[in-house]
Amino acid sequence: MLQGRELAPFRKRLLGWFRQFRRDLPWRRTKDPYRIWLSEIMLQQTRVAAAIPYYERFLERFPDIQTLAAAPQEEVLRLWSGLGYYSRARNLQKAAQQIVAKHGGRFPRSAEEVLALPGIGEYTAAAVLSIAFGEKYAVLDGNVARVLARLGAIRGDLRASQRWQKLQETADKYLDPKSPGDWNQAMMELGATLCTPKSPQCLLCPVSQFCEGRKLGIAESLPEKRKKRATVEVTLAVAVFMDGNGSTFLLPPPVSTEVSISADHIPTLVSRMWHFPAVSVTGDPAAKLRVYLRKLLPGARNGDLRFAAAGKVRHAVTYRDITLLPFRVDVKKLPEVPGAKHVALAGVSSFTVSNLTRKVARAALAAAPHVPEERRE
Ligand code: SF4
Repeated sequence: MLQGRELAPFRKRLLGWFRQFRRDLPWRRTKDPYRIWLSEIMLQQTRVAAAIPYYERFLERFPDIQTLAAAPQEEVLRLWSGLGYYSRARNLQKAAQQIVAKHGGRFPRSAEEVLALPGIGEYTAAAVLSIAFGEKYAVLDGNVARVLARLGAIRGDLRASQRWQKLQETADKYLDPKSPGDWNQAMMELGATLCTPKSPQCLLCPVSQFCEGRKLGIAESLPEKRKKRATVEVTLAVAVFMDGNGSTFLLPPPVSTEVSISADHIPTLVSRMWHFPAVSVTGDPAAKLRVYLRKLLPGARNGDLRFAAAGKVRHAVTYRDITLLPFRVDVKKLPEVPGAKHVALAGVSSFTVSNLTRKVARAALAAAPHVPEERRE
């Protein structure tokens, strides 16, 4: 860890570099805590370039906390649609509602109050409080941890709790108390642009002279690899009904928020969005899907449940490797399912659905229509 007299020149070099070379990003042109908070939430799982158009569209529709709090959840999710990890959007709105109810619509300034809001952890609280209000909280996320690990030549799993705590202490110590917001952004910017996971650009780095990892020639190998969580493979059989007008139906988001994947449930995989009827399968997917559809459509006759495989779609979510097996069910008339919505199959993408559902819709559209058995030669 840098000590005493090294700290002032270290801060000066990093801040000077940041102020000269920082990227001009929409959320850097404001001190509005709502906008900074929104950007931090969007950037949690999304690259900067991909997040910008979403950020701008979202703010056009929800320019302040009050508007977001009062909006129908469906609309919030629609504007989030495509960014994935929809719990972020739900929590954002829940937090906005709490801010309206408990803080008169103004983003709170105390760390305790901010951390009590849904979807806001230590990192986001520190980012918003420092950037919007100049509070002295140092951010620590994977990006900043990597920079700190290289600067201090820290080996081992950075997420191990004691090591993470030490990194937080280091981040706190390095924080420039005169410009905490700029300092935090400078650390993030260094991690995002020069001290990147692969091939850090040490020759361009403003703080290379302070970097132990570079001096020891081990910067590139830091942080050391974490033990990977084993990948879980999941196969889902998905029924895509289609009538003669090209319409299909989607089932509503499950009511429970606690349901995890089990033999017959897929809710967490469809992110609690509108979705096609689907079932998790291990053996014969068509047989399992048929059993499931009989339960879903108790009035259906045998002839109504003829379907044809429509290819295979892969989708990865964190540690899950999902194989989707869409089956197209061509029918004269869509069955009536309580709570279901009828939509054009070609228009599913503009609806509030997950990427997983979009992929299935595309595969089903691309597949040839199912030819009922009685018309086969
Ligand atoms: Fe990262 Fe290289 Fe700069 Fe060290 S010198 S902080 S490894 S970019």
